[in-house]
Amino acid sequence: MKGTATDPLLLSESEDVQERFREMVRETLSSVFRSFSDGSAFSGIDPYDLRGKVNGLGFLPEHGRGFEAVLEDTERVILPHLLRTWSTDYMPHLHSPVLTETICSELIISCFNDSMDSWDQGPAATELEESMVRGLTGLFGLPGGSDGCFTSGGSQSNITALMAARDRYCRERLGWDVRADGLPPDFGKLRIYTSEISHFSMDKASHILGMGYAAVRKIPVDEKCRVDVAAFERMVEEDAASGLLPFCAVATFGTTDFGSIDDATAMRGICDRHGMHLHGDAAYGSGLIMSDRYGDRVSAMSVCDSVTVDFHKMFLLPISCSAILVRDADLLRCFEFHADYLNRVEDEEDGYINLVGKSMQTTRRFDALKVYMAFQTRGRDGFGRIIDTAVENAAYLYDRVSKDGDFVAPVEPEMSSVVFALKGGDELNRKVRRRLLAEGTVIGQTVKDGKVMLKFTLLNPNLTHEGIDAVIDRIRTLGCECGNP
Ligand SMILES: *Cc1c(COP(=O)(O)O)cnc(C)c1O
Repeated sequence: MKGTATDPLLLSESEDVQERFREMVRETLSSVFRSFSDGSAFSGIDPYDLRGKVNGLGFLPEHGRGFEAVLEDTERVILPHLLRTWSTDYMPHLHSPVLTETICSELIISCFNDSMDSWDQGPAATELEESMVRGLTGLFGLPGGSDGCFTSGGSQSNITALMAARDRYCRERLGWDVRADGLPPDFGKLRIYTSEISHFSMDKASHILGMGYAAVRKIPVDEKCRVDVAAFERMVEEDAASGLLPFCAVATFGTTDFGSIDDATAMRGICDRHGMHLHGDAAYGSGLIMSDRYGDRVSAMSVCDSVTVDFHKMFLLPISCSAILVRDADLLRCFEFHADYLNRVEDEEDGYINLVGKSMQTTRRFDALKVYMAFQTRGRDGFGRIIDTAVENAAYLYDRVSKDGDFVAPVEPEMSSVVFALKGGDELNRKVRRRLLAEGTVIGQTVKDGKVMLKFTLLNPNLTHEGIDAVIDRIRTLGCECGNP
C-alpha cells in the first residue's frame, strides 16, 4: 500500500523525507541550545514588551514561508523568552527540568502519534500502558485487582477519582445511577472532605461534577500543615448527624505549597467507620516512593481507594504525564461506553482492549512510554538519588533560613518545598520576588496565615548548597535595597 504523492514535510517511508526530517531535528536542537544563554531561568523581559514582540509574529500567511524561516523567527522571538526549566535559578513551582531520555520518548510518541483510545490506534501503546499501570499499582502498594489509567495531569486524575467515588456511593448507598440519570435528588447533601490547603482542583472537580464548591468541606490543618484528624472526624460526624452525605475524603501526600503529608492511615479509619472513599492526592509526593530514605513518608498511599500520581513533577518527565490508580478496577467503569465505531464489545472479548473505557479522554497521548523509558534508563536507585537530593536541599535551605534572624520560616519541610519570608512585611517580600524575576531568578510566592511568603520548590537535582547560599544572600541584599529605597 504505497502512496505515490510525497509531501516533503509529512513523515513517511521515503528516505528523502527522513533525511530532510533528520536535518530539521538537528536545526531545531541547535536553535534550542543557542537559546540556553547564561544559565539564568528567564530573560527578565517585561510582559508588555514581550506581548508586542509576540503579536508581531503574524498569524496565518497566505503562502507558507518554509520551515527554516519559521524556525528563525521562533528562535528570535519565542525561545529567548521561554522559561528555562533546567536552570537551577528556577525554583517556584512543581514544574521541573526534564530527563533527556524522555525528550527522546516524546520524539517517538510524536513520530508514531498512536492514540490510547482503542487497541487498533495503539497496539503496543495500549499493552505498554496496561503493563506500566500494573507495575505502578504494585510500586505504590495497591493490592491485586487494582487498576488505573494515564491522564493529562493531577487535576484530571483528581476529578476522575472524585467522580468514580461519587458514582459508586450513589449507586451503592442511594440506589441511584448517576451515569444514566444524572445527579440524585439529594445531590446538594453530598460532601467531600479535604484540608484547607489541599489543591484547588478539588473545588474545580466538585463544580464540574455538578456539586459545586459547597460540597467541599475544608478541614483545618495542624501546625505541620497536615489534616487535623480530630477535626475531620468531628466534621464528618456532625454532618452525618444533620443528614448530609459524606462520601469521600482526600489525603494529600505533599501539599502544593508546603509539601506536608496528611496522616492517611488515621483518615482511613474514619472513612471506614462512615463508609467513605479515601482518595490520595500524591501528585507531588508520589516521587518519594523511589527513595530508600524517605519512601516511608508516603507509604500510606497503599491504604487509599484511589491515588493521583504525577510524573511531570518530582519524576522530572515532560508535561504531561500523570495517572490515576484505583484499588478496585470496577471504580473506573463509570467511564465505560461502547461506540460502534470505536470499541465494540465483541473485539474486547477477543483481547483487543480499548482504554477509552477507563478514561475521561478519547484521543489520548502515549505518555506511558516516558515512564517506561525513564524507569528502565535510571532504575529505582537512579530516581532515588534525584529525590534524595531534592529533599536534602530543602532541609538545607530550611536549616539556613530558620536559624537566620533576617527570616521567618514557619514550617519544617517533609518534602522539597520551603516557605519563608524576609522580616519586614508583605510589600518587601513581593518586591524582592519581582526584582529576582527581572534578574532571571524565578522563585514562588504564597500566603501563610495571612502573610506573604517566598516559596521554593526544589526539584532540580543539579542545585547545590552553594546555589542555595547564593540565592539566600541575594534575597537578603535585595531586602536591604527594597527596604531602604
Ligand atoms: C500539582 C498538583 C495538582 C494538579 O496537578 P496538575 O498535573 O497540575 O493538573 C493536584 N494536587 C496537588 C497536590 C498538586 O501539587
